[in-house]
Amino acid sequence: MAYAYDDQNIFAKILRGEIPNNTVLETEHTLAFRDIAPKAPDHVLVIPKGPYVCFDHFCNDASAEEIVDFARAAGQVCKMLGCEPGHGGEGFRAITNAGEDGVQEVPHYHLHILAGRPMGPMLL
Ligand code: C5P
Repeated sequence: MAYAYDDQNIFAKILRGEIPNNTVLETEHTLAFRDIAPKAPDHVLVIPKGPYVCFDHFCNDASAEEIVDFARAAGQVCKMLGCEPGHGGEGFRAITNAGEDGVQEVPHYHLHILAGRPMGPMLL
């Protein structure tokens, strides 16, 4: 079944410039901005500019160029936050919520990067 993308979702509006955001990085295919309700001292959302609903949609349907651009942008955000564990940072958590069971609120794929405090164990 094809993914149905709702272009009225809040991140689509951010990408169209209809709603302001606190951008930390923008590339050809990717935007990264600070979460409006941060759950850690650093909480950045990395989103593709293309119309992808969730992680699996992005992984299955985005072009290799978009995926590489997204991955590099996410890595760059970690560098900018200074949280890379291999480079003197204290580490971070990168998560994505998908669909109903994943409790995804905004139906435009996004990666949460959380840093600046110990995250505690994963809730499983
Ligand atoms: O993964 P999920 O869809 O639940 O997360 C959506 C995230 O988008 C929330 O962390 C929320 O604070 C954030 N958000 C935002 N700016 C908005 C609306 C939501 O950063 N205008």
